[in-house]
Amino acid sequence: MSIIYDQPEIWNVADTATIWMASEIVDVALEPYTDLRGGGAFSAVFGSVRFRFNNGLKTWAHANSSGIIFLRGYVILPLVIHELGHRFNIKLKLRPQKQLWKDKIDPRKGSLWGGFHTRTMADGNEPDEWFANLFADWAMQMLARNAEGDKLRAWMDEHMPAWVAAAMEVAA
Ligand SMILES: [Zn+2]
Repeated sequence: MSIIYDQPEIWNVADTATIWMASEIVDVALEPYTDLRGGGAFSAVFGSVRFRFNNGLKTWAHANSSGIIFLRGYVILPLVIHELGHRFNIKLKLRPQKQLWKDKIDPRKGSLWGGFHTRTMADGNEPDEWFANLFADWAMQMLARNAEGDKLRAWMDEHMPAWVAAAMEVAA
């Protein structure tokens, strides 16, 4: 795993353990689409991921093209995976969120938990947030075992091979 902490002195054991676990969960979810094992899939797909704190942030966390930023106190497992979903989408030049919108995929149904912002902001047209939530639910095995969950799982299975292959071609 290529994880970089910009301010290593202020990252505590609990927060770095959460980042590590999130990366492992995502790595295992990506493995079937690669020939890589033992952390290789995460590194090949994401390259180096930089993490930093910024207490001026208006949200709990934010992902951009240079890394993932957290408010201190909000390094929460599903949120870290949600932010990795944003990074995946950004790395693919928003292709996943465009596909989600085109296919009218609504991940607000079919999840086993209430999740973060988008499911309470139910009417917002935020395909980037919807994709990040779906990515997190998919990676954490939190898609429901019902028709809605099955539809979301099938949609991810349909697109992940091409997206993973494309992400691996983008330089880290
Ligand atoms: Zn988000």
